[in-house]
Amino acid sequence: MEKQITDILRNLMACASVTNTEKEIAAETWMLDFFRKQPYFQTYPERCGLFPIPGDPLHRNTVWALVKCDGSDNEEQDGKAPENGLTAEEDINAIQTAGQRPTVIFMGHHDVVPADVYGDAAPWAFDLDNIAAHLNKENLSAEAYTDLLSGEWLFGRGCCDMLGGTAVQMALLAEQAEKVLQKTDKSKKTQNEKNMMADKPVKTLLSNPDEAIVDDGDEEELCGPGKADTCSALLFLSVPDEESFSAGMRGSLSLLEGLKEKYNLDYRLAICAEPNQRLADGKTQVVYSGSIGKLLPVVLVQGKLVQVGSYREGLNPLGILSRVVAATEGDETFTERYGEEVSVPPVWMYVRDLKEGYDFSLPKRAAGYCNVLTFQKTPAQVMAYFLGKIKGVLEEVSHPVTVMTWVTLWQQAKQHSGFEKFWQETERKKRELLQEEHKTFPEVTLWLMQRTLDFLNFDQPAVVFGFAPPYYPAVRSEEMKDAARFAVYKKALSALQEVEIKTYFPGVSDCSYCGIPEGTQNPVYQVNTPLWGKEYHFAVDALARLQIPFFLFGPWGRDLHQAGERVNRYSLTEEYPAVLRKLLHCVW
Ligand SMILES: [Zn+2]
Repeated sequence: MEKQITDILRNLMACASVTNTEKEIAAETWMLDFFRKQPYFQTYPERCGLFPIPGDPLHRNTVWALVKCDGSDNEEQDGKAPENGLTAEEDINAIQTAGQRPTVIFMGHHDVVPADVYGDAAPWAFDLDNIAAHLNKENLSAEAYTDLLSGEWLFGRGCCDMLGGTAVQMALLAEQAEKVLQKTDKSKKTQNEKNMMADKPVKTLLSNPDEAIVDDGDEEELCGPGKADTCSALLFLSVPDEESFSAGMRGSLSLLEGLKEKYNLDYRLAICAEPNQRLADGKTQVVYSGSIGKLLPVVLVQGKLVQVGSYREGLNPLGILSRVVAATEGDETFTERYGEEVSVPPVWMYVRDLKEGYDFSLPKRAAGYCNVLTFQKTPAQVMAYFLGKIKGVLEEVSHPVTVMTWVTLWQQAKQHSGFEKFWQETERKKRELLQEEHKTFPEVTLWLMQRTLDFLNFDQPAVVFGFAPPYYPAVRSEEMKDAARFAVYKKALSALQEVEIKTYFPGVSDCSYCGIPEGTQNPVYQVNTPLWGKEYHFAVDALARLQIPFFLFGPWGRDLHQAGERVNRYSLTEEYPAVLRKLLHCVW
């Protein structure tokens, strides 16, 4: 398998699938071709495909492939005890939901960050075999250089984040598919003999509303009546755009729901193959069972424009905004603790006046946006925190200042005459800014806030609060459905490899869209995000329905996004595939 993993990795890297570019499609096509070449998918061509990301201007796709297996088709058949570190009782506990197919999702992303940081070595950044020869002391850290000399690491853009993990998952899916096919051939022969003596079993008819998932109507070939509870499945899913705005994962929720319904899948565990770090001992790998939340609150301040000589009659929005920034930036009282883990305080990413050019008057408006990472705090709590700080700042301002959330401002605009026409034109211009002028989400959010204030001819001092995309909900696998079963998987993983399972992956990941606990959907975010809708959204209801517990568990990697990006050769080609294989059988 070692050779197959490095072959896949080499080919995937060569696609140079830089995030938010058409090049991601090259990787998608390569992956689909790989699956189509497997005998299993030649027999069942409908079980793999490209799922177009809805509304994506770059026309990118999620690559998916599904192998339906018979649960008894594993090592346990040889009469050996399962090597997953579980007692027989726990193993039984892991197989409970009769009638649904226990399913593991291998998930990942096929986009990579650009290779500019490689400098002179950039032309080889995507060349797995030759990049090492072009790296040296000058472009690597001391640790990376030592690793380079050791020969134990593979270098190059994407090898670690995360095409390496993806290559392993593709190879394992192919292996599983081959096993199933061999078993099917055997069972077909037996079936033919039986058919000579009895009527054919009635086929289960499956309806499929989703055009992207074609019904292959062969439900019973591997799972005859009475066997359904032992049938399992492995679903591979690789999304585009993870390194940008997660359009791939957000857009794939309907695919996940469609496949679940069509094949009666019980998504028991997703394993996202993002690389992991290890503790200083070089052995204990840090794995995550949750992913941190991220929000981008936006504050726009409208002051009172006067000539600087009349300063006392005016109101400088920069004065207010900078005090809001000072009251919140790095505020440790905002941070959250979960066990030993502590979240990062608010960090302002952008603060400036909105005046174009220079003159001798106060700026009319100023705005900023702030990066907020959360464990448990909801958008409503984050909003309450910021509004509280804003009101605190305004208590020391001599002029009256109105504080508004975006939804309040928008409601006022809706009641204003001429709104329909105004909004139609705004929608058109908004699309143009995003798609043709490639303005960022926060830029267009600020543009929308200003445009709406202008439409209302609102010229009193005001502070408008809202959110800009992206939004990553904070998630913890332990609080999703079937928590007891997930506890068993954690135990199994700990028995299979030396790991430290932490809760919140601090780097923000697509796993945020694996599900949210029921009852936590709150419309505060949606109504206060001017761009929520066609331009940016995800199916919040689908998240509440899906609730897929996950591990962020991949091979051992270092220095992702840097020129020293590397993945440990042994971890990638031997250890990780072996552990994944065993973990699969624990879930099935
Ligand atoms: Zn990644």
